[in-house]
Amino acid sequence: MTHPEDDPLYQGLKVNKGIAQPPSVNPYLKNRAKRRSYSVNEYVDGILDGNIPLLSQAVTLVESAKPEHQDMAQAIIEKCLPHSGNAIRVGITGVPGAGKSTSIDAFGMYLLELGHKLAVLAIDPSSERSKGSILGDKTRMEKLSMEQNAFIRPSPSAGSLGGVARKTRETIILCEAAGFNYVFVETVGVGQSETAVHSMVDFFLLIQLAGTGDELQGIKRGIMEMADGIVINKADGDNIEKAKMAKRQLKNALHLYPLPDSGWTPEVLTYSGYYKLNIGGVWDMVHRYIDFVKQNGFFEKKRNEQSKYWMYETINERLKNDFYRNPAIEKLMPRLENEVLSARKSSFVAAKEALDEYYTLKNKF
Ligand code: GDP
Repeated sequence: MTHPEDDPLYQGLKVNKGIAQPPSVNPYLKNRAKRRSYSVNEYVDGILDGNIPLLSQAVTLVESAKPEHQDMAQAIIEKCLPHSGNAIRVGITGVPGAGKSTSIDAFGMYLLELGHKLAVLAIDPSSERSKGSILGDKTRMEKLSMEQNAFIRPSPSAGSLGGVARKTRETIILCEAAGFNYVFVETVGVGQSETAVHSMVDFFLLIQLAGTGDELQGIKRGIMEMADGIVINKADGDNIEKAKMAKRQLKNALHLYPLPDSGWTPEVLTYSGYYKLNIGGVWDMVHRYIDFVKQNGFFEKKRNEQSKYWMYETINERLKNDFYRNPAIEKLMPRLENEVLSARKSSFVAAKEALDEYYTLKNKF
């Protein structure tokens, strides 16, 4: 018997064989997302040519934890090194809400209008602890992000602060080789990450706010000492007088600190990132500093010291990774952790056991 639906009477009712599902991924995007892999030399040539997509991909290799990516990244960095070092590197810090993104947008546009090329990198210390981000994922630096001569890269995520900082430092090298002659490294004012940023920049800029009562509240002494310039943002409208007062207070406070090794007395300025007031003044200060330390030799001395610091940091990070990523150690650690947590073993004995195991394994090869 034929099924009633197949009866000519029911011709209007058609049983479909089933509708083919559309592909879940737009085939056009799928092709686009498929990246060709490049050789080290292709990366290097692209970077030296100022090819931004290739620069971005090379930075992704720097950030990758995969050993084969790391090897490639190191080879690229090595070839880019002779072409790096030509940028003015500026660290920028301030508490959340100080106006870092607004200011970076304004500073960046100011520099771009003068014909410069700017890379903006970030070190977000929160990525280590909370896997979240203080600097945020919201679209920051709205104008700058539309500019061809600006390269904005968010903080490498995951990993220890040392690892994140090392990746950022390596990214600076690639950006410089790609022709960016200003590099900003932004961080948020909570202490340790400032030390990391300070160790990779020529000028360290602290963004402050006026009118918070005690002007020194919340600034760690160490951060004040690191600053080559302190700029008080939001000096606009009713806030101008307050900003001027904060400037006087900060200047007085700075007198209490010994003169830094650079021989440069940190300057204090007021400006408005939002209304673009005195942006030029901020940059005149940065350039005055650079001229000053180039003349007295501190510029080069500091960069060399930084290289030394990064040599040790890199060794420390590599050793740590090699240890913790060793499969035998990975297996051993949870057991040792439990034994220490339940007070069955002392921390020292457990540490010795882990290290002994590691060295025994290493010595086998
Ligand atoms: P960040 O958290 O340090 O990156 O700070 P944002 O740049 O996001 O700025 C925090 C808030 O301060 C925003 O609402 C900005 O619009 C505002 N802001 C930033 N710069 C200025 C400024 O120069 N003047 C005034 N009045 N407001 C500003």
